[in-house]
Order: sequence, then C-alpha cells, then structure tokens
Amino acid sequence: MPSNSLIIHGARVPLPPAVLAAGGSAANYLDDGEPAFRHTARVRPLQHFILHETCGNTASGCRDTLIRKGYGVQLILAPDGRVSNHGDLAEAVMVHGNQLNPTSIGIEVCNPYCPGFARPPFGPTIPAEWWTWVPAGGAKAYVLPTPTQLAVLKALVPWLCGQMGIPYAFPTAGLNKAQRKIPGWDGHPAAVPGPGVVAHRDFAGHADGRYLLEQLMEASHG
Ligand SMILES: [Zn+2]
Repeated sequence: MPSNSLIIHGARVPLPPAVLAAGGSAANYLDDGEPAFRHTARVRPLQHFILHETCGNTASGCRDTLIRKGYGVQLILAPDGRVSNHGDLAEAVMVHGNQLNPTSIGIEVCNPYCPGFARPPFGPTIPAEWWTWVPAGGAKAYVLPTPTQLAVLKALVPWLCGQMGIPYAFPTAGLNKAQRKIPGWDGHPAAVPGPGVVAHRDFAGHADGRYLLEQLMEASHG
C-alpha cells in the first residue's frame, strides 16, 4: 500500500477523500521509495500551478527522462491515477516551467498527446484544437488522458491550490486561436501570467497542458 501522502513543508499531508474516491493514490520520496528530483530552495512565494503532459505513455519513462536531463517536477500523474511526489511541494524549486520555476509547482500528466505515440490504455482522440501539437504529416487529433487521470486531476488541483495558497484561478482563460500565448510572450520570453493554474504551453514555447486546463475550467464553472 502506498502512503497516500504528499510532502508539504516536511509534513506528510494525506490525500483528501475526493482524490481517493476519484481513483487516486500517492507515493512520495520519503515513504515510498520515489526518487527525489534535483531542486533548489524556494525563496519566492508560490503563485502558479503548472499543468504539463509528458508526450510519453508511462510515469517511469517521464521520471527517467527528467533525471537524465537534470530537470524535475514535484508531481507525476500516471495513467492509473497514481500520483508520485518527488520533492517538497512548498520548499523545492525544480526545472520544469521556464520563467515560472521559482514561483510554481508542476504536475506531469502522463499522456502521449500525439496519436502516433499512443499505446494502451491511451487511444481515444478528439479533433485538433488551436492548442493541439500536430507533427509534420501527423494526424490532426489529440490523444485524451485516461478518465481516471482526469477525475484525479479535477479533485487534486483545487485541493492542492488551497493547501499551497495558490489562487484557484485561470489567468490564461482568455487565450484563443488569435491570441495563443500570454500577451507579451512573443519576443519577451520572461512574460509572466497572473497567479493561478496555467498550461505550460500558455506562456512558453511548448505544446502541453491546455486540454487539462480546459477541463479544470469547465468543471469549475459547472
Ligand atoms: Zn511541459
């Protein structure tokens, strides 16, 4: 049995019932043998929760790639709803979110997002949207996360924002086909969104996280 706890300021914080009911579990670097990722000490206040997708199918693949590159992320959400915790959510700054590293925590949701990369349980797609990455010659479609991942994310992110003092707000909600990145980002890669939950693609030269953000926004607005 995993500990089902996440580490915040050195303390073990149990997952709330809503995350467990959604099919979530948690394994951390103190109790469950998860690797602690490379990090530095946080000195600036937390303001952002960054949503990532791995472009791969497994949590172990994501973990190994991050370690090899010297990057990190505080949380990884596996296809089966297991959340692994790789550093203190309050105190460890990791390299995953460009200019937002010092003020953020991040979650990597394992998802190949491109049909050509998908293996079971991934497979179902939706047609490409303005935020979808489509490789040259690739299918114009986005691979959905698993239903369990989505259910866990919808319970986990609002709860964790509350625990961490991050506003459960969506500062990049207004982005669209005509304005695809935060204002000021093009040519000024240090541009910063307002506090809240953001997709990695919204403020950097990446392609991940927007479907997850859209799902959280929809759930939040009923
Ligand atoms: Zn990312």
